[in-house]
Amino acid sequence: MSGEPAPRFIFVTGGVSSSLGKGLAAASLGALLQARGYKVRMRKFDPYLNVDPGTMSPYQHGEVFVTVDGAETDLDLGHYERFTGNDATRNDSVTTGKVYKQVLDRERAGDYLGATVQVIPHVTDAIKEFIQAGLDGEDFVLVEIGGTVGDIEGLPFLEAIRQLRQELGPERTMFVHLTLVPFIRSAGEIKTKPTQHSVKELLGLGIQPDLLLCRSEDPLPEDARRKIALFCNIGADRVISAHDADPIYAVPAAYHEQGFDGEVLAGFGLPRRPEPDLGLWREITRRVRSPEGSVRIAIVGKYTELRDAYKSLSEALRHGGIANNVHVEEDWVEAERFDREDIVGRLAGVHGILVPGGFGERGTIGKIGAARFARERKVPYFGICFGMQMAVIEAARSLAGLEEAGSTEFGPTPEPVVGLLEEWIADGQVEHRSEADGKGGTMRLGNHTAELARGSRVAGIYGASRVEERHRHRYEVNIRYRNRLEATGLRFSGLSPDGSLPEIVEIEDHPWFVGVQFHPELRSRPFDPHPLFRSFVDAAVTQSRLV
Ligand code: GLN
Repeated sequence: MSGEPAPRFIFVTGGVSSSLGKGLAAASLGALLQARGYKVRMRKFDPYLNVDPGTMSPYQHGEVFVTVDGAETDLDLGHYERFTGNDATRNDSVTTGKVYKQVLDRERAGDYLGATVQVIPHVTDAIKEFIQAGLDGEDFVLVEIGGTVGDIEGLPFLEAIRQLRQELGPERTMFVHLTLVPFIRSAGEIKTKPTQHSVKELLGLGIQPDLLLCRSEDPLPEDARRKIALFCNIGADRVISAHDADPIYAVPAAYHEQGFDGEVLAGFGLPRRPEPDLGLWREITRRVRSPEGSVRIAIVGKYTELRDAYKSLSEALRHGGIANNVHVEEDWVEAERFDREDIVGRLAGVHGILVPGGFGERGTIGKIGAARFARERKVPYFGICFGMQMAVIEAARSLAGLEEAGSTEFGPTPEPVVGLLEEWIADGQVEHRSEADGKGGTMRLGNHTAELARGSRVAGIYGASRVEERHRHRYEVNIRYRNRLEATGLRFSGLSPDGSLPEIVEIEDHPWFVGVQFHPELRSRPFDPHPLFRSFVDAAVTQSRLV
């Protein structure tokens, strides 16, 4: 045996239906193992053919979560980060597209030495490599397999994890299967049959689950637990009731009470004791459940009917609420309605306005109007990425006399206050991008530094003079307009270290008006709310006392 600790792999699959919260379940197990002092890493394997979700519409796939190192990933990685506090990396998000790309690149390079390249063993070998790549002394690696067992496209992943079980043995691998146990209202009964079928399907692929997580509305009755155990060949203690918990931050403690983490450890032959300290999770849950007040924040965006499109944003707002002991009521406003409707009537009485990230021209009239409303009426305004760009265009048009100010994202404009910059500095090197580049992977992505102006509002909020924040955008506020805009009171209070890219703008003569080119919501954690969200919600609390 070498001195290297050997990581244990916990594979989380899903059965019966999608959208059961597999990512949350995996993240909660990660949090529980971490609370017991283990080092945990979480990974997501998605069966679709996109190389990453960066080019997918939020309608298809919800939010694109961006890692510190600039990978565009599945939104479940956001749950992982919020529950474990660990920054994910590009190694932690793998798709079929990424796997095939590697296999095909190798094939073209002649690496397979004349072999016929096949799903088994070449694709499954590549999957096994990805599962084990870039680890760093972790005790547990949790690997969530996207999709539902039975999907054609998921088969190579299931085959790969079956093989890993053979190679590493039960001491180092575990299969957790999450299924649905529906309640049939007309019969007044819960049904175990879908779970039985799903486990049978897995068995047909050579995988016997070690643990079942049964998603249900209410706690799983004892007889149902026994029945599932009997038919699925699993000890009854390993059939865990994973009933609905609200808020999501109550899930780790709820799973612990059902014995989930204890069974996982026992399965690996590890001691169940000492019990994990879940005080932090209980305190977060308590604060969410019993706030001392409430503020209403209007979110003026485009994908408002699909909440998953703004998952991290919602969570970050909730964290801001936790920090201030208030409930944040999200008032989603479809920006396009302001093309026809009066903004004033709709936004009157809100305690804060947030314009989130976005792409494309549709809805911009409303977003610019919302920024104007907030500026003129001194309502706290938080512009994130696109929301900052819209606020800058608004100030340019209304205050700097640049009536034709616009963004080149929507076509040529005489006053490109927001434009495509051809180069920027990353890792000390100049990187280039141009209109001719393809859409996938041409954005400024991941962590970049912003230097904060001394004495600015944001420097006070962060309590720092330099910050690292995550980016995902193609366009930039054009530094050439800085002087004209600053003369109107819009301060460029955060800049890239070389001074060429505006990172933060703020209006000094306003209760709270901040635009940021990055996505602070990606870095917020329930136990460590992002300073900007904390401060924005605090400003909304002040506003709520005025209106
Ligand atoms: N569409 C804008 C850009 O590409 C803003 C992107 C965003 O809000 N994430 O720069």
